[in-house]
Amino acid sequence: MILILEPNTDVAGEDFKRLQETLSSLPGVHTRLHQEHGAQQVLTEVYLIGDTQSLSVTDMQALPSVERVVRVSEAYRILGRHKDDTRPSGFEYNGVRFGQDTLNVFAGLCAVDSEESVEHMMQALQESSLVCTRMGAYKPRTSPYSFQGLGHACLPYVFRLASQYGIKVIAMEVTHESQIDEIRAALASTRSTTGVMLQIGTRNTQNFELLKAVGRQHEFPVLIKRGFGITLEESLNAAEYLASEGNRQVIFGLRGMKTNMGDPHRNLVDFAHVPVVQRLTRMPVCVDPSHSVGVPTRGPQGILDIMHATAQGVIAGANMVLVDFHPDPSVAKVDGAQALRLEELPHFLEDVRIVREAYQKRVELARRFEKAEAIAQ
Ligand code: PEP
Ligand code: MN
Repeated sequence: MILILEPNTDVAGEDFKRLQETLSSLPGVHTRLHQEHGAQQVLTEVYLIGDTQSLSVTDMQALPSVERVVRVSEAYRILGRHKDDTRPSGFEYNGVRFGQDTLNVFAGLCAVDSEESVEHMMQALQESSLVCTRMGAYKPRTSPYSFQGLGHACLPYVFRLASQYGIKVIAMEVTHESQIDEIRAALASTRSTTGVMLQIGTRNTQNFELLKAVGRQHEFPVLIKRGFGITLEESLNAAEYLASEGNRQVIFGLRGMKTNMGDPHRNLVDFAHVPVVQRLTRMPVCVDPSHSVGVPTRGPQGILDIMHATAQGVIAGANMVLVDFHPDPSVAKVDGAQALRLEELPHFLEDVRIVREAYQKRVELARRFEKAEAIAQ
């Protein structure tokens, strides 16, 4: 059960003290406090954990400072979308809003391979007015003999160039918690104005110790990819690990499922799950057409399979697109086959715009029919 307190409730005040006294007298129930510091107000929620079945919503609602009570189902207590749960989804980070109603494109390098390619990439982003990107420094590779990413060595120029080209958020995978400190240190030493979204890759979706460590820090938001060989429920529980440690700025990423049934694509595209995740949770949903499709092939009309998959995610309401680009895919050290060329960025963005508009029209249409049905009843 969640008690949503009145905005700006003073947790040092008398009312809150009385509330705490009552809650601590409930048998078999313990509490966990969560505060969200927004630009205008501080939102406080008290999670009641344990034997809450017998508690009445009306009684809890009458307690001091309590504005609203939400009874949560067992699954995804914090990130889940519960019955009568109208808490807002999403968050703002470094001036960029992420929600179930927004769309942000993160075009960038799968793996950073040189300062030159980072600069070319960022120039192209600036020309297209994009403020988000992806830059892989720590790469989890199938073979130990493959390029493992440049690691912390590339961070200073990545962050310096990001500031220079007006980039606000960089999605960057971490494979070990020590890398969070390296990122923090490089941001500080370069005095960069960019932000970083920590990415949990599909190979680490159930690396619970990494999830706990990334969840314990509240400075950076997190993009968690769906595990490529586990159920959706298992992956959503993995996301809940982050939130249960205190970090709720979580985006859920679909990136295709590993099965030969997806051949000749690298993975089987699962973007029909965008609305499923939005219904079950309050997380914004990202799609990664590059790692889903993995190949540079196109249909007979000339449209790249990667652009078709992007469109399938966006038409279903995706909130973020993570997509690989490279100034020269033929020399990219990781996943060159799925990288689009910088010259293809304007085409890609125009295509996304068309599909986003179509999605928005579909939402209006659904509302119109819903209203008409309600009137008819
Ligand atoms: C990536 O985004 O660079 C990546 C490795 O993706 P995934 O974890 O989905 O394979
Ligand atoms: Mn990759």
